Amino acid sequence: MQATWMSFLLRSLLIAVLALCVGFYAGGWWAWMAAAICFALLTLDHTRQLARLTQWVSAPRLETIPQGTGDWELPLGELYRLNKAQHKEVQSLLQSMARFRDAARALPDGVVTLNAAHQIEWANPTAELLLAIDAERDQGRAITNLVRNPDFVEYLRLGVYTAPLILRNVRGDASVLTVRAVAFGSERMLLLVRDITHEENIERLRRDFVANVSHELKTPITVLAGFVETLANPDIELEPAQRTHFLALMAEQSERMQRLIEDLLTLSALESAARPSTESIIEMPSLIQQVMPTIQALSDGKHQFICEVEALTLKGNAQEIISVISNLASNAVRYTPAGGTIRVTWTQRDEHAVLSVTDSGIGIEAQHLSRLTERFYRVDTSRSRESGGTGLGLAIVKHVLTRHQAKLEIHSTPGQGSTFSAVFPAQRVQPLHE
Ligand code: ADP
Repeated sequence: MQATWMSFLLRSLLIAVLALCVGFYAGGWWAWMAAAICFALLTLDHTRQLARLTQWVSAPRLETIPQGTGDWELPLGELYRLNKAQHKEVQSLLQSMARFRDAARALPDGVVTLNAAHQIEWANPTAELLLAIDAERDQGRAITNLVRNPDFVEYLRLGVYTAPLILRNVRGDASVLTVRAVAFGSERMLLLVRDITHEENIERLRRDFVANVSHELKTPITVLAGFVETLANPDIELEPAQRTHFLALMAEQSERMQRLIEDLLTLSALESAARPSTESIIEMPSLIQQVMPTIQALSDGKHQFICEVEALTLKGNAQEIISVISNLASNAVRYTPAGGTIRVTWTQRDEHAVLSVTDSGIGIEAQHLSRLTERFYRVDTSRSRESGGTGLGLAIVKHVLTRHQAKLEIHSTPGQGSTFSAVFPAQRVQPLHE
């Protein structure tokens, strides 16, 4: 301010001196003329710089700030400096906002920001997917008009967000979500959404498993307890033949429990590690020959057996591979009526090796195939139990194969028979040099 006045005084003084000099040589009229011309030139310069500034103000951009001269140099320079600082601040704010949005976009959980009227301001892609909304299209729309679940509407209406809300079937599928609202800023809200479908499924499987095991054990224990009670009652006279029959039934139930517990222990051991603890090069032809007599004993001469093996070794855990062959072959025996054929093969297919058990038995309807390896899944429960099945055989097979990076393929035609094939990867297979 002071500098501006000083400059004005200095210029006025200079013009006065100039006018005096002109007056001294050319007379008073010329002195006034000279002063008027100088002031006019000064005013013209000010007007020009003011016009440039006015024009800039109509579209202010940092790069186009006019450069001032004379008295205008200082304020226009200052204006440029201030603008530059502000521009830098805005840029850094924009950058941190972009960083924040990038981070929120990358979150594995869904995030939605809502205003006081619960209208969507922003949502990350996970939230779009989980809540079936479109952040761009639905911006400004009330979230309760899009997620119409009554529990969710009530949750937002009550405004008590101490516990998360569990939402089922938001997208019309079997998904399970947790939603937690967090208030922030002035009346704004952050909605955090997580997909817990997988955790829920695991928890359901665990509950089902416990219920299934209890159910499986209940029948033999009830039968055994009943017989023990009868045998222990001194008032009940039993014929020797009746007693022998009772004891045979008791032995059958004990064996059933024993098989179930053995299978449960096998499953639990398989589940406790992702890979077999010990692996060796297994001579598959001799391993299959070793298992076949047990299977034939189970068939008791009721089936015809065909065995076709190629000279290939398998790298794996022999005990686990024996349990695969036994389970598949004993299923073939149990689900094939007398007179049927059971074929066990170990062959090369492309670079893989395939262990197949084919039977000419009752077969399986297509809708059951994908669920056969679930624990306790049976097509016909009574047939499975009568034939001594625990409902865990194929679950064990599936686990062993997964540990050997192998796949289980099932082909079946009801009334004609089934083929269960274990397909082993090339890196586990070698030709057998005898
Ligand atoms: P289970 O002890 O009941 O045989 P598994 O897990 O071995 O249990 O098999 C599951 C179900 O798959 C069986 O209950 C049966 O319904 C069906 N299944 C398995 N193998 C065969 C087969 N070879 N032929 C027909 N059905 C089969």
